[in-house]
Amino acid sequence: MLVVMQAQATDEQVRAVCQRIESLGYRAHPIPGAQRTAIGITGNQTEVEPGTLEEMAGVQEVIRVSKPFKLVSRDIKAENTVIGFPGCDATVGGRSLAVMAGPCAIESREQAFAIAERVHRAGAQFFRGGAYKPRTSPYSFQGLGEEALRIMAEIRERFGLRIVTEAVDNESLELVERYADVIQIGARNMQNFSLLKRAGRARKPVLLKRGMSATLEEFLMAAEYVMSEGNYNVVLCERGVRTFADHTRNTLDLSLVPAVQRLSHLPIVVDPSHGTGKRNKVTPLSRAAVAVGADGLMVEVHNDPDRALSDGMQSLYPQQFDELMDQVRQIARIVERYLPPARAQPAAAH
Ligand code: PEP
Ligand code: MN
Repeated sequence: MLVVMQAQATDEQVRAVCQRIESLGYRAHPIPGAQRTAIGITGNQTEVEPGTLEEMAGVQEVIRVSKPFKLVSRDIKAENTVIGFPGCDATVGGRSLAVMAGPCAIESREQAFAIAERVHRAGAQFFRGGAYKPRTSPYSFQGLGEEALRIMAEIRERFGLRIVTEAVDNESLELVERYADVIQIGARNMQNFSLLKRAGRARKPVLLKRGMSATLEEFLMAAEYVMSEGNYNVVLCERGVRTFADHTRNTLDLSLVPAVQRLSHLPIVVDPSHGTGKRNKVTPLSRAAVAVGADGLMVEVHNDPDRALSDGMQSLYPQQFDELMDQVRQIARIVERYLPPARAQPAAAH
């Protein structure tokens, strides 16, 4: 159920409707839009009786939402969600493409700073790096944990890059929320519903990766879990699904981008690194992702990929990342998006 407020409804009227919804035992989600505010109603096992709400001051109409996903849907908010970050002009979902780049895993302070310096110079606004790594083998490098988070917090200080990093459980989420700017939920956890709910109670935006065999609906329902707990800043990320194809690690499903955009107001970025698993395919698929309308890219970059502790085969050399950015910048113009220029000089030391 969805309450659409009149364009001229006052904040007080919106509050009164929310209070009425909560007093009926449901949860109210006021989502302001360009034209009007809509209030999503969740928590209802049974149908809400629209009569009590329809007559309230400022209410235009009460609509039944038949889709299983409600808060992620364009029914509640027609225009795209744009996520901003305090103290900087980076956004996700606006006209400017969001580029998140960095190593699969933080391996050392030197490694992380060397890569951050290069991706910052190339024009990325976000630094990605794993502190907690969900690895196939328990004997593989599992990440530096909190030490990696501290290194990334220093990188934010030094370069002004916003930090994106994965939380693998409730405990790591607590720390990631404290240190980072965006909480990444990995493909393997896309349907870890208790983790999604915890992320929904966090005060930082969530980057949700598509599960490796998730349908569009399952993906959107995972985002719905986060939003249903009150965190409306969710970025979706297509990172490839598993198919019979063996020329790549996964099959990057770029058709998901327009499919999501048709149904949802949430931004969607593409990760061609995990999507292909092969360095030589990352740049072509980044160009394609931007051409198809993605709101940004997540790209693995390493200063010494041959010795990387994880995902070296799909990590770009910094020089290749420079080229990727130059090419994507040209495609961006054609699709009326924008990618900030490369930064000529390294940031001044603090
Ligand atoms: C990652 O981003 O490093 C990662 C592990 O991604 P995914 O969850 O998509 O495999
Ligand atoms: Mn990786």
